[in-house]
Amino acid sequence: MDVETLEIGLFASNCHIISNDKGDALVVDPGDEGTRIIDALQRRNLKVAYYLITHGHVDHVSALAEVAAALPAPVAMHPLDAKWAFQPVNQMPPYYGTPKAPPSIDRDLDDGQEWTDADLTYRVLFTPGHAPGHVSFYFPDAQALFCGDVLFQGSIGRLDLPGGNVKDMENSLQKLLALPDETVVYTGHGPATTIGQERRTNPFLRSGALG
Ligand SMILES: [Zn+2]
Ligand SMILES: [Zn+2]
Repeated sequence: MDVETLEIGLFASNCHIISNDKGDALVVDPGDEGTRIIDALQRRNLKVAYYLITHGHVDHVSALAEVAAALPAPVAMHPLDAKWAFQPVNQMPPYYGTPKAPPSIDRDLDDGQEWTDADLTYRVLFTPGHAPGHVSFYFPDAQALFCGDVLFQGSIGRLDLPGGNVKDMENSLQKLLALPDETVVYTGHGPATTIGQERRTNPFLRSGALG
């Protein structure tokens, strides 16, 4: 399993391209700069098997319709975020306008589901708190986690946006901390890290840190 991360858009969001050795790919959070994402896929001759969305914020979904139009593949996200992600309520300056919806949401994600796409098996972890329908994707064979805006290197996702919830975030962080220390964590912003490194050094993971 190979991971290429593109830092995109006004909020420096991470779009992750996960691929197998046969050239099939999963695209996590095509949030902006659709042309760059399309170029990155085409340059390596990758065929998209699925678009996987961690959560609905503008900086994670704004290029989804454009990329999926150029390189058609089904889309998976949690219904609690799908219901507002492509509505005017999801406008966030300095982004302008409402993210364009893909032709369809083809798979409703939920906690504990296990899927195999592009020959890669992953588990869906429901991780709300930063957004009500936030999910993370855990690939046990590769010991890799794609956690959107839940956990960052040395930090955690904002809780002050609409739908944010402190108690949910505490539960979600506990769920991620239950993964093995070696798990590589591909975050929604900033560098990758590991569960072990965050367990040892992240000040937001000390008990009571969220109040
Ligand atoms: Zn977010
Ligand atoms: Zn974000």
